[in-house]
Amino acid sequence: RVVSAASASPKEEVIERALRPKLLDEYVGQLKVREQLEIFIGAARKRGEALDHVLLFGPPGLGKTTLSHIIAQELGVNLRQTSGPVLEKPKDLAALLTNLEKNDVLFIDEIHRLSPVVEEILYPALEDYQIDIMIGEGPAARSIKLDLQPFTLVGATTRAGMLTNPLRDRFGIVARLEFYTAEELTRIVTRSAKLLNAPMDDAGASEIARRSRGTPRIANRLLRRVRDYADVKGAGHITQEMAQKALVMLDVDPQGFDVMDRKLLEAVIHRFDGGPVGLDNIAASIGEEAGTIEDVIEPYLIQQGFLQRTPRGRVATLAAYRHLGVAPPQVQAS
Ligand code: ADP
Repeated sequence: RVVSAASASPKEEVIERALRPKLLDEYVGQLKVREQLEIFIGAARKRGEALDHVLLFGPPGLGKTTLSHIIAQELGVNLRQTSGPVLEKPKDLAALLTNLEKNDVLFIDEIHRLSPVVEEILYPALEDYQIDIMIGEGPAARSIKLDLQPFTLVGATTRAGMLTNPLRDRFGIVARLEFYTAEELTRIVTRSAKLLNAPMDDAGASEIARRSRGTPRIANRLLRRVRDYADVKGAGHITQEMAQKALVMLDVDPQGFDVMDRKLLEAVIHRFDGGPVGLDNIAASIGEEAGTIEDVIEPYLIQQGFLQRTPRGRVATLAAYRHLGVAPPQVQAS
C-alpha cells in the first residue's frame, strides 16, 4: 500500500517540529486566518481573558498543529496537546481539563474522532468552564460539578462537516486553511533549507514549491529528499536540475501529482469512463480508503481543476485527460 505523502513517520515528525514557525509573523500565507487571529489574540491578551474556542479545518499538512502552537505562544500560555482517538474515556479528558491553568490552550487534533461520551463532557467545559464528574461507585455514586480555569480549545479536523452540530456550534472562531500558492511554498522551503543548512538556489526552491501539492508538509519533505539526492549525485547544491531529477525519481510529476493522484485519475478515466463515479467505487478500484481519498487525495485534485465533485459522483475534467495524455470523449452534438 502506498503511504500517502501527507502522513508523517516518527522521525519525520522530529524534523517537522524543528521546522515549525513559532510566531504568527513567521507563519507564511493564510492571510485571512492570520489577520483574524492577530486581532482576537490581541483582544484576549488585552483583557486578560481566554481566547474564544478555535476550530481549524483543512487537509493534512496545511499547518493546523503549527497554528495551535503559535496561538498558545502568542497568548503567552501553556499548550496541552492530545487527539480525538487518544481520549478513550471521559476521565482521560477530565484529567487534562482539570490540569489546565488560567487561559491555557488545549489542542485536540482529529477532534471529529472524539467518542460521544467524551464529547458529552466537553460541552459544559466549553460553555461554562465546568465539568460533571462521578465520585464513588454503586449506590453511593454521585455526580459533582467541578469548576475549571478558563481555557481555549483549539480543535483540528480535516473536514468541518464531520463534526456534530452541538460541538461545531461551540467554536467562536472557525477557520478554514487553504492550499498554499507556489510563491508561499517557495518562501517556506527557502526558510527550511536555511534551517537545515542546505544550499539551494531560487530556481531549485520554486521547482520544489510548484510540485508540493500546495502543502507545506510535503514541500518540507520533498526538500529533504531532494537534498539527499543532491548530496549523493551532485555537490550538495540544490538547483532546479537537481530538483527535477530527484522528483522524477520520487514519482512526483511536473504538476506535483504523486502515484496516488495519478492512480485516482486513471481509474476515473479508464475504468469509469471519466465518471460520474461514486467515492466507494473509486476506493475499491484503487485500494484506498474512502476517507483518505476524501481528506487527502481529492481536495487538491479538485482545487486544481482535475476532478469535479457532482451530486452524481466524481467526474474527470478535460485537464485530467490532457494531463494523462488521453483523448477526451467526443461531445455529442445534439
Ligand atoms: P497539520 O496539523 O495541518 O497536519 P502541521 O501544522 O503539522 O500540519 O504542518 C506541517 C509542517 O508544515 C510543519 O512542520 C510546518 O513546518 C510546516 N508548515 C505548515 N504551515 C506552515 C506555514 N504557514 N508556514 C511555514 N511552515 C508551515
